[in-house]
Amino acid sequence: MKYVVPGQFLGTAEEYIPGEGAYEDNGRIFSSCAGDMSVDEKNYRINVLSKEKPIHAEVGDEIIGVISEINEPIVVVMSEYLIRNGEIHEYHDRTLIHASRITGHFLDQASRAIKMRDVVKARVVSTRGKIDLSLERPEDGVIYGFCSRCRKPLEKVNNALYCKYCQRTEMRKTSSKYGEISLGLKR
Ligand SMILES: [Zn+2]
Repeated sequence: MKYVVPGQFLGTAEEYIPGEGAYEDNGRIFSSCAGDMSVDEKNYRINVLSKEKPIHAEVGDEIIGVISEINEPIVVVMSEYLIRNGEIHEYHDRTLIHASRITGHFLDQASRAIKMRDVVKARVVSTRGKIDLSLERPEDGVIYGFCSRCRKPLEKVNNALYCKYCQRTEMRKTSSKYGEISLGLKR
Protein backbone atom coordinates (compact mmCIF):
# COMPACT_ATOMS: atom_id res chain seq x y z
CA MET A 1 0.00 0.00 0.00
CA LYS A 2 1.23 3.43 -0.92
CA TYR A 3 -0.56 6.75 -0.43
CA VAL A 4 -0.92 8.74 -3.66
CA VAL A 5 -2.48 12.10 -4.66
CA PRO A 6 -4.54 13.05 -7.76
CA GLY A 7 -2.40 13.27 -10.91
CA GLN A 8 0.46 11.24 -9.43
CA PHE A 9 2.32 8.95 -11.86
CA LEU A 10 1.69 5.29 -10.95
CA GLY A 11 3.26 3.28 -13.75
CA THR A 12 3.26 2.68 -17.48
CA ALA A 13 0.46 1.13 -19.55
CA GLU A 14 2.93 -1.58 -20.61
CA GLU A 15 3.13 -2.79 -17.02
CA TYR A 16 -0.39 -2.16 -15.74
CA ILE A 17 -4.04 -1.58 -16.57
CA PRO A 18 -5.78 1.41 -14.96
CA GLY A 19 -8.52 0.25 -12.55
CA GLU A 20 -10.56 2.13 -9.93
CA GLY A 21 -9.24 5.61 -9.23
CA ALA A 22 -6.68 5.52 -12.05
CA TYR A 23 -6.54 6.68 -15.66
CA GLU A 24 -4.21 6.41 -18.63
CA ASP A 25 -2.80 9.34 -20.56
CA ASN A 26 -0.35 8.71 -23.42
CA GLY A 27 0.79 5.33 -22.14
CA ARG A 28 1.24 6.53 -18.59
CA ILE A 29 -1.08 5.74 -15.68
CA PHE A 30 -2.00 8.38 -13.10
CA SER A 31 -4.11 8.50 -9.98
CA SER A 32 -7.44 10.33 -10.25
CA CYS A 33 -7.96 10.55 -6.48
CA ALA A 34 -6.13 10.64 -3.18
CA GLY A 35 -5.88 7.28 -1.46
CA ASP A 36 -4.07 3.97 -1.18
CA MET A 37 -2.60 2.48 -4.34
CA SER A 38 -2.53 -1.28 -4.81
CA VAL A 39 -1.82 -3.64 -7.69
CA ASP A 40 -3.96 -6.69 -8.39
CA GLU A 41 -1.35 -9.31 -9.28
CA LYS A 42 -3.87 -11.48 -11.16
CA ASN A 43 -4.82 -8.97 -13.84
CA TYR A 44 -2.17 -6.22 -13.42
CA ARG A 45 -4.84 -3.70 -12.53
CA ILE A 46 -3.63 -0.71 -10.60
CA ASN A 47 -6.27 0.65 -8.20
CA VAL A 48 -6.44 3.66 -5.93
CA LEU A 49 -8.88 3.32 -3.06
CA SER A 50 -10.14 6.77 -2.17
CA LYS A 51 -9.89 7.66 1.51
CA GLU A 52 -11.77 10.89 1.30
CA LYS A 53 -15.00 11.60 3.08
CA PRO A 54 -17.66 13.11 0.80
CA ILE A 55 -17.29 16.88 0.68
CA HIS A 56 -20.17 19.36 0.44
CA ALA A 57 -19.94 22.40 -1.82
CA GLU A 58 -19.74 25.84 -0.22
CA VAL A 59 -19.94 29.31 -1.78
CA GLY A 60 -16.51 30.21 -3.16
CA ASP A 61 -15.44 26.64 -3.93
CA GLU A 62 -14.27 25.88 -7.44
CA ILE A 63 -15.81 23.05 -9.42
CA ILE A 64 -14.50 21.16 -12.42
CA GLY A 65 -17.06 19.20 -14.37
CA VAL A 66 -18.53 18.24 -17.72
CA ILE A 67 -21.55 19.84 -19.41
CA SER A 68 -24.15 17.06 -19.53
CA GLU A 69 -27.37 18.85 -20.41
CA ILE A 70 -28.44 22.21 -21.81
CA ASN A 71 -32.04 23.03 -21.05
CA GLU A 72 -32.21 26.77 -21.81
CA PRO A 73 -31.52 28.87 -19.88
CA ILE A 74 -30.11 26.24 -17.50
CA VAL A 75 -26.93 24.24 -18.03
CA VAL A 76 -26.30 21.05 -16.05
CA VAL A 77 -22.71 20.30 -15.06
CA MET A 78 -21.81 16.84 -13.78
CA SER A 79 -19.08 17.85 -11.39
CA GLU A 80 -16.01 15.69 -10.91
CA TYR A 81 -13.72 17.75 -8.70
CA LEU A 82 -14.03 20.45 -6.07
CA ILE A 83 -11.12 22.74 -5.27
CA ARG A 84 -10.98 24.42 -1.86
CA ASN A 85 -7.92 26.24 -0.46
CA GLY A 86 -5.86 24.83 -3.34
CA GLU A 87 -6.75 21.24 -2.48
CA ILE A 88 -8.48 19.00 -5.01
CA HIS A 89 -11.28 16.71 -3.81
CA GLU A 90 -13.43 14.28 -5.71
CA TYR A 91 -16.91 15.70 -5.90
CA HIS A 92 -19.72 14.07 -7.86
CA ASP A 93 -22.91 16.07 -7.98
CA ARG A 94 -25.34 17.66 -10.41
CA THR A 95 -24.65 21.40 -10.45
CA LEU A 96 -26.31 24.19 -12.45
CA ILE A 97 -25.32 27.30 -14.38
CA HIS A 98 -27.90 29.87 -15.45
CA ALA A 99 -27.30 31.61 -18.82
CA SER A 100 -27.04 34.95 -16.97
CA ARG A 101 -24.01 33.69 -15.02
CA ILE A 102 -21.80 32.72 -17.96
CA THR A 103 -20.23 35.83 -19.47
CA GLY A 104 -21.24 38.57 -17.05
CA HIS A 105 -23.31 40.13 -19.85
CA PHE A 106 -26.84 39.36 -20.95
CA LEU A 107 -26.91 36.10 -22.90
CA ASP A 108 -30.23 34.92 -24.31
CA GLN A 109 -28.95 31.36 -24.81
CA ALA A 110 -26.37 29.48 -22.77
CA SER A 111 -25.52 27.41 -25.86
CA ARG A 112 -23.92 30.49 -27.46
CA ALA A 113 -21.05 30.21 -24.97
CA ILE A 114 -21.06 26.57 -23.88
CA LYS A 115 -21.59 23.23 -25.60
CA MET A 116 -22.40 19.69 -24.52
CA ARG A 117 -19.43 17.73 -23.13
CA ASP A 118 -17.24 20.82 -22.66
CA VAL A 119 -15.19 20.65 -19.48
CA VAL A 120 -15.60 23.76 -17.34
CA LYS A 121 -14.06 25.31 -14.27
CA ALA A 122 -16.65 27.26 -12.30
CA ARG A 123 -17.21 28.99 -8.97
CA VAL A 124 -19.99 28.04 -6.54
CA VAL A 125 -22.27 31.07 -5.98
CA SER A 126 -25.20 29.49 -4.12
CA THR A 127 -25.92 26.25 -2.30
CA ARG A 128 -29.53 26.88 -1.30
CA GLY A 129 -31.43 23.76 -2.34
CA LYS A 130 -29.32 23.32 -5.48
CA ILE A 131 -25.71 24.07 -6.31
CA ASP A 132 -25.45 27.13 -8.59
CA LEU A 133 -22.24 27.93 -10.41
CA SER A 134 -20.86 30.98 -12.21
CA LEU A 135 -18.39 31.15 -15.10
CA GLU A 136 -18.06 34.94 -15.01
CA ARG A 137 -14.51 35.32 -13.65
CA PRO A 138 -11.70 35.32 -16.29
CA GLU A 139 -10.18 32.13 -14.84
CA ASP A 140 -13.54 30.36 -15.03
CA GLY A 141 -15.16 28.99 -18.16
CA VAL A 142 -14.46 26.19 -20.60
CA ILE A 143 -11.07 24.54 -19.95
CA TYR A 144 -11.51 21.87 -22.65
CA GLY A 145 -13.86 22.17 -25.62
CA PHE A 146 -14.59 19.74 -28.41
CA CYS A 147 -15.48 20.42 -32.03
CA SER A 148 -19.25 20.19 -32.56
CA ARG A 149 -18.63 18.49 -35.90
CA CYS A 150 -15.74 16.03 -35.42
CA ARG A 151 -15.51 15.92 -31.56
CA LYS A 152 -11.72 16.47 -31.56
CA PRO A 153 -10.28 18.86 -28.95
CA LEU A 154 -10.34 22.53 -29.90
CA GLU A 155 -7.28 24.75 -29.67
CA LYS A 156 -7.42 28.24 -28.22
CA VAL A 157 -6.40 30.79 -30.84
CA ASN A 158 -6.60 34.38 -29.61
CA ASN A 159 -10.06 34.54 -28.03
CA ALA A 160 -11.73 31.78 -30.01
CA LEU A 161 -11.50 28.00 -30.21
CA TYR A 162 -10.35 26.47 -33.44
CA CYS A 163 -10.61 22.97 -34.93
CA LYS A 164 -7.60 22.41 -37.17
CA TYR A 165 -9.23 19.32 -38.73
CA CYS A 166 -12.45 21.04 -39.81
CA GLN A 167 -10.75 24.45 -40.08
CA ARG A 168 -13.55 26.16 -38.27
CA THR A 169 -13.86 28.41 -35.28
CA GLU A 170 -16.30 27.97 -32.41
CA MET A 171 -17.20 30.45 -29.73
CA ARG A 172 -17.07 29.67 -26.04
CA LYS A 173 -16.74 31.48 -22.75
CA THR A 174 -13.22 30.15 -22.18
CA SER A 175 -11.17 30.13 -19.01
CA SER A 176 -7.83 31.97 -19.00
CA LYS A 177 -6.47 28.52 -18.09
CA TYR A 178 -7.87 26.84 -21.21
CA GLY A 179 -6.03 23.59 -21.95
CA GLU A 180 -3.74 23.93 -18.92
CA ILE A 181 -5.62 21.80 -16.39
CA SER A 182 -5.26 18.04 -16.72
CA LEU A 183 -7.10 15.82 -14.29
CA GLY A 184 -7.99 12.82 -16.43
CA LEU A 185 -11.65 13.72 -16.62
CA LYS A 186 -14.06 11.09 -17.79
CA ARG A 187 -15.98 12.16 -20.87
ZN1 LIG B 1 -13.65 19.47 -36.08
